[in-house]
Amino acid sequence: MADKKDNPTLKTVRAGAKPSKPGAPLRNRQGKRKELTLGEYVDGILGGDRVVLSQAITLIESSLPEHMELALEIIERCLPHTGNAIRVGITGVPGVGKSTFIETLGIYLTETEKRRVAVLAIDPRSERTKGSILGDKTRMTSLATDPNAFIRPSAAAASLGGVARNTRETILLCEAAGFNTIIVETVGVGQSETTVHSMVDFFLLLMLAGAGDELQGIKRGIMEMADAIAITKADGANATKAKLAQKEYQGAIRLFPPTGTGWTPRVLTCSAVENTGIREVWETVLEHNGSLSEKGFIAQMRREQGKKWMHEAIRLSLDERFYDDPNIKEALGEIEREVAQGHTSPFTGAKRLLDIYGNKP
Ligand code: GDP
Repeated sequence: MADKKDNPTLKTVRAGAKPSKPGAPLRNRQGKRKELTLGEYVDGILGGDRVVLSQAITLIESSLPEHMELALEIIERCLPHTGNAIRVGITGVPGVGKSTFIETLGIYLTETEKRRVAVLAIDPRSERTKGSILGDKTRMTSLATDPNAFIRPSAAAASLGGVARNTRETILLCEAAGFNTIIVETVGVGQSETTVHSMVDFFLLLMLAGAGDELQGIKRGIMEMADAIAITKADGANATKAKLAQKEYQGAIRLFPPTGTGWTPRVLTCSAVENTGIREVWETVLEHNGSLSEKGFIAQMRREQGKKWMHEAIRLSLDERFYDDPNIKEALGEIEREVAQGHTSPFTGAKRLLDIYGNKP
């Protein structure tokens, strides 16, 4: 890993920059954001510079073609330094206690386990609510100021696919920056869990005791993806209910199809407020990681995920290119109207548009 002290490139960048708040982008004397070169980005990230890391993530999230190109080059150069983290996905309905749990777990990991933790979010609702998950860093006040933690809310993107692409690339940059634990948070509202599941090694579902599965809006499919279920808020009057729920879920998951890796999903209870059961959740993550790594399953899973990411990236780019095409923009409104009025079938409409796109000179 590059050492900042021995890195003349970084010193040069810093020299012209105004002093900035931690996490704020580097600025030159005119107060303009300093454009870093590819080498400066890569050296900064590999040196664990959080400001440069943040700026690189902003680049990933940009839709400007020159930013996208530079972002890809940065990722490519960082790639040999990635893959060394344990990647954990955490989901659960709003109010289940995700941010409180992640804060307690995060602090346990940095303080007791001496790990470096990056917390990212996939929030399909961010368009509507301007980033509801982690949008407000005050939800994780202690972790947000922990020098060994890095919290990055999900930026609003046009689609879940867009947010997912950004998150996947962000995972790689965080790993290159030396974060050995990646936590990806998402809200239990449907599609986003499958997306998160496809980018992590371990998938943790947080559940409330006594609320009933339907009430919690957690579909069976999501429970089936979980490597562990943790019943949250197992404290005070809720502790007994949590133990009961644990038994129920243990019974329920026995009926699920086997995972194919030999791993049996666990059901745990925890309280983020009283800091109980948190260590056990982490030990379960480690046990899973040890057991699957030994059999080569983690490497295999990541290879499969990598292929999936590529196909999704292709789909996303094709979609973007299609709708950005001037010929499509011109024809779309009219064909949409014809379909809406029933004069053209949706399939013929799609075919006509694809023909227009495909017949480009
Ligand atoms: P999120 O929407 O899933 O991120 O949930 P939050 O972490 O914001 O928690 C929702 C509410 O549950 C807050 O009022 C928390 O104080 C409370 N809460 C979270 N964890 C615990 C816990 O372990 N025990 C108790 N008693 N309350 C908790």
